[in-house]
Amino acid sequence: MINTKPQNISILGATGSIGTSTLDVISRNRDRFNVFALTAHSQIEKLFSQCVEFNPHYAVVDNENDANRLHDMLRNKNVSTEVLYGEKSLSYVASHQDVDMVMAAIVGAAGLLPTLDAARAGKKILLANKETLVVAGDLFMRTVCQSGASVLPVDSEHNAIFQSLPENVRLTMASGKWQTENYQSSGIASLILTASGGPFLDTDIDTFANITPQMALKHPNWSMGRKISIDSATMMNKGLEVIEACHLFSIPADSIEVVIHPQSIIHSMVRYCDGSVLAQMGNPDMRTPIAYCLGLPERINAGVSNLDLFTTDALCFRKPQDERFPCLRLAFEALRLGYDATCILNAANEIAVDNFLNGKIRFTDIAVVIEKTMSLCQLSDDIFNIEQLLQKDKIARNIAQQIIIDM
Ligand code: NAD
Ligand code: MG
Repeated sequence: MINTKPQNISILGATGSIGTSTLDVISRNRDRFNVFALTAHSQIEKLFSQCVEFNPHYAVVDNENDANRLHDMLRNKNVSTEVLYGEKSLSYVASHQDVDMVMAAIVGAAGLLPTLDAARAGKKILLANKETLVVAGDLFMRTVCQSGASVLPVDSEHNAIFQSLPENVRLTMASGKWQTENYQSSGIASLILTASGGPFLDTDIDTFANITPQMALKHPNWSMGRKISIDSATMMNKGLEVIEACHLFSIPADSIEVVIHPQSIIHSMVRYCDGSVLAQMGNPDMRTPIAYCLGLPERINAGVSNLDLFTTDALCFRKPQDERFPCLRLAFEALRLGYDATCILNAANEIAVDNFLNGKIRFTDIAVVIEKTMSLCQLSDDIFNIEQLLQKDKIARNIAQQIIIDM
């Protein structure tokens, strides 16, 4: 073990799918990590059990009532975890001087500010919250570069690409110091993002309007949170990941290929100029990329079963069709528009997905709401700071909500 001192970690979004998997990996490697803080928005009982098991210094919840309730539950069990609440407390545990690494696993734009604060404080950031890069990619990567923070991609595709890059490239990228011009000298030709295609890859497009939330939440390969599961069904998830990759790897959109690979065994690839394509493979289990980020530079036990090549289905690859996945086209369009177009795209998508999950709009309306919001919401011609982006996020949400009311 290279790091003899256990690393202090704050897990933002501890009760979610990524948060739970992170704690699972930590529980298999107790000598390497101290859980410093756990945060959750709801699911207080689940957070309580996690506090009992991992005994963090801090737990952060949404409001005072929940904080008091959790405090009493913990004291009854003689657990000394201090309970805090609110946005400022999320930032506090993300940037605390005793914290070595931060798992950024809050869902949606709500994860943006604490993740940015972790970057400002120079932390090692294990980045699952893709919305940080989609909403504020330039700003975030600039902050990482200036503060000496590092960012390690948890999203399985970006993690696979990261693992398939040469070591010197990986280290420069993690510190935000990578320049687009360096690609050619490193022999990298393009990045290939794989997508499962979600549950409706072969469904008749004419029946898409009848898709229910229950149908859309059933992902064929991955077990994930509700929002990202819907994003996978529309392939907006891949759109967000293309934007994520552009910022993370500092690469133009036209050097990114998207390939549908329904088996989700290859998690993404890097194409080199000599004809080589390097891939990272494994069973679809987020504990693998999480363990890779937690353990770097070492490999640690993730509890993931071995990939059995003899029972694995034949690996297939298909081109995504625009008419089946309009959200993917919209994401590329937002990237081309630049400035805060991806912030508008993300806000409209969050509102649309939420309304779909609540039975207010149809599956096919998700792309309609996003496209209309993008056409109605004016682009800024420069981005100076995070407040400006948050303001645009708010405006876009209001416009999307109004479009839904008028539908
Ligand atoms: P999830 O819905 O399962 O969990 C979200 C977590 O964030 C929960 O702990 C919740 O309490 C917290 N949260 C929700 N709203 C909040 C708010 N307003 N303020 C503070 N905390 C809040 O989500 P997930 O699937 O674990 O995804 C987390 C992030 O990781 C997302 O950005 C997602 O896109 C990304 N991601 C997830 C996966 C996956 O397999 N689940 C894969 C790649 C990337
Ligand atoms: Mg992914």
